Amino acid sequence: MAVDSSTKPLDIGIIGGGLAGSFAAVALGRLPNTKITVYEKSPAATEVGAWISLTNATFDVLTRFIDSDKLNGIAFRGDPNNEYVTRHWKTGEIIYTQETFNRSRPFVEARTHRIPLHNLILEHVPSNVEIKYDSNVASITSSPEGITINAKYDKKDRHDLVVVADGIYSRIRQQFFPKGAIKYKGVVAYRSVFPESLVSHITDLPSDTSVWAKSGSVVFLSKLGLGQYGVVAIISEPEATAGKLKWNRGTGEWGRKRLKEFFDQWDSRINQVIQIVPEILAFPLESGPWLSNLVVDDQIAFIGDAAHPTSGVYGAGASFGFSDAWALYRSLQETSSNHWVRAATVANKYNIKLALFLFNETRRYFLQRVEKQIAIDAEVGRDHLSKAKDDKEWTDKYLIVRSGGEWMRSHNVELEYQKVRDQYSVLLQRNLTSFQTLGHGLTEWDIPKL
Ligand SMILES: Cc1cc2nc3c(=O)[nH]c(=O)nc-3n(C[C@H](O)[C@H](O)[C@H](O)COP(=O)(O)OP(=O)(O)OC[C@H]3O[C@@H](n4cnc5c(N)ncnc54)[C@H](O)[C@@H]3O)c2cc1C
Repeated sequence: MAVDSSTKPLDIGIIGGGLAGSFAAVALGRLPNTKITVYEKSPAATEVGAWISLTNATFDVLTRFIDSDKLNGIAFRGDPNNEYVTRHWKTGEIIYTQETFNRSRPFVEARTHRIPLHNLILEHVPSNVEIKYDSNVASITSSPEGITINAKYDKKDRHDLVVVADGIYSRIRQQFFPKGAIKYKGVVAYRSVFPESLVSHITDLPSDTSVWAKSGSVVFLSKLGLGQYGVVAIISEPEATAGKLKWNRGTGEWGRKRLKEFFDQWDSRINQVIQIVPEILAFPLESGPWLSNLVVDDQIAFIGDAAHPTSGVYGAGASFGFSDAWALYRSLQETSSNHWVRAATVANKYNIKLALFLFNETRRYFLQRVEKQIAIDAEVGRDHLSKAKDDKEWTDKYLIVRSGGEWMRSHNVELEYQKVRDQYSVLLQRNLTSFQTLGHGLTEWDIPKL
């Protein structure tokens, strides 16, 4: 196939420059013959100063573009096996250790904090990607000619493809799916990151990453790399209390008092840490229904929390967003004319409709399974764990029914993508705009109407 050397670049707009949007810029910025603009409403890269777990899947995906030494350089991985250690809420006795199967150590999950992670990702955004800060996108308009960005400045940019990564409170999701309201989940996460030196006097503090759990409340303590230490406490709060707390805002002395009282009877090391925390930030956790299809009008792709709005579920929300971006990158790469021609020309023509179909097929079944697991775990907590007669029964039941979640944290999006691609290989190899079904296996229902 001859490639027209005058082929126009694929013009991509990314709305939101948080973790998922920035990583999408890193990945899509490596595709040939593209013009990419990121719209970020903040005046500069500002991030929530909180702990973030890097899952196995995060390592797999990020290290495609970011050197693993650099990623490990901002993270903490406990010894010897790096497990999350679950402890008895009062005695601190280890009751469970989370297994990591058979991975080489530089790619085993670890803990870090958002600011260095976001900065590391931004350092890898190629120079051909333009990031427009102070660009608050109010809405987008989709038409056969492209998608128009309606932002609070005069010029209306138009793109061939828009990636929506504007987070859990996504305006664009509300625009297209107005019924998917975000609701308070009944729990508040209190979080803080501070210099590790502040806890050095607590001599018996575990050197691993530990979680203490009791009746649906949990507290995590861990080093986070770069000399920082983190605490996360997730506890039920009535709506009235949550309503007074602001997302990512300090809670002052009220927060410290609240946590001291709440954890008063727990392992004393928890309260020793709470005493010295300089500032406790509040995150009233909210969620909404996940998108069952991540693609709208064959030219808009939702990724990250904009697509699956649940704050911090399984400590893997960012990981899901990175995998979304990877699936999109691979789908576009595969459906560009050059990929098949393999000619040494810079001109590429992309089949957006087919790429978005592959992206959606790669992600949506996995995400639906995660959403189902959230519902199952909520039901187990409500109908089973909460009925335990005493502490011992709760712990016994918890150990039986807790979901391991390894399949989420280690989900291999590249293999999932390859599975989808191979199923549709006839379409891809011919880079079709029309097609015939294969007979067995694929039906017309399965195949995109290109
Ligand atoms: C308590 C808690 C704990 C968590 N722990 C973990 C963890 O351990 N591991 C993990 O992987 N994940 C964790 N998460 C989840 C993780 O923080 C999110 O999944 C992740 O930040 C989602 O990235 P995102 O880019 O989709 O959204 P965000 O990071 O929220 O980024 C959205 C970006 O869009 C911008 N934006 C919004 N609206 C507009 C607009 N109209 N125009 C332009 N720009 C806009 C915002 O300014 C922001 O920069 C946690 C979350 C919470 C709340």
